[in-house]
Order: sequence, then C-alpha cells, then structure tokens
Amino acid sequence: MSDESLFEFGFTHNRKLRRLSDVAFRLWVTAIDVANEDGTDGLVTPDSIDVFTKAPKTGKERETAIAELVDGGLWHPVDGGWVIHDFLKHQESAEGRTDRKAMDRRRMRLSRNRKSYVAFAVSNGATCRYCGVELIDGSGGSWSSDDQKRWACLDHIVPRCQGGSDSDENLALSCWLCNSKKGGRTPEQAGMVLR
Ligand SMILES: [Zn+2]
Repeated sequence: MSDESLFEFGFTHNRKLRRLSDVAFRLWVTAIDVANEDGTDGLVTPDSIDVFTKAPKTGKERETAIAELVDGGLWHPVDGGWVIHDFLKHQESAEGRTDRKAMDRRRMRLSRNRKSYVAFAVSNGATCRYCGVELIDGSGGSWSSDDQKRWACLDHIVPRCQGGSDSDENLALSCWLCNSKKGGRTPEQAGMVLR
C-alpha cells in the first residue's frame, strides 16, 4: 500500500502504521488532529506533545514512540520539532483553511439572516414574486404536497450555476413550486415574470 492511503479510509491497514505500537499510533493520530485544529501545517513541537491528551508526557515511552514515528517515515525531524509526513498533501494548509472558514462564517451569517427574513416575510403575508401565491413557512414541515408547493424559498434570480451572485439583490422570495420549475434558468429563459 502506498503513502497515498495515509489519512484516507482504510489507512489503518497501511504497512507503516501497522508496525507502530499503540502509544506511537495514538501520538500520530493526535498530532494530525492537533495540527489541523491549530493550523500548524503539520508541525509538531515538544511543547505541543506536552498538552496532547494521553500522550506520554516525558520519558522513555515518549522517546520510543517518537523514534518509531521518525524511523517509520511518518514524522520528519526539523528545527524545533517534527513535521508530519505528507501533511499538506492530505490536509488543508492553514492559509486555505482560513479562507474557507471565513467563507463558511459568511455563509452561515447570511443563511441565518435570510432564514429570519423569510420567516418574517411569511408571517407578514408575503407572496411569491413569480406566481403571486401566498407563501407558507416550510421549515415547520407540513409535508402535504399542496402545502409544499407554497413553501417559501429564496430564489437566485440569475442562478448560481450561471454565475449569479449570492447577494440580496439577486434573491427573490418565491414559492417552492416556482423555484423548482425555474431550476437553473433565468426568469427570461424559464418564461417567468418577476413582479
Ligand atoms: Zn410561485
């Protein structure tokens, strides 16, 4: 089995990993988790090992475990510690992750605001901007097909698959039925009129 399988499903069958003692294996797994969490790009330091849960704090057991990882090619010694083999090949770099986290946060904020906006609009008798039907709140989960047609959605006027933005200006309150019918088309392409 090649190194490609490290960090992937079935990774515990990897030859290098199978040879490890339980202590070394735990140290290897914990180090990956902590490096991910802390965004160290795979760097492990003696200080960071000190705070790993259940890692040997000092002494022979710890030295042996580290030696096993180094000898097995799973950790490479560097100034001030070790780097986890192929870490960045399989895990996101801290930089990439920061971008993604910022985007996730933005998306979550948007979706929270939009959910409350939709709920507010529905409770004030909002109607579908395509067919004019009175909208109902779908999040309560009334699953009859008649109700479902009127569930309130936020339609991307220019769909995202055609480069439409996620900004408020590109969103229209619509019923579930119109939203589904329109699919990945602009109102024009779908022959629908935005009121
Ligand atoms: Zn509609």
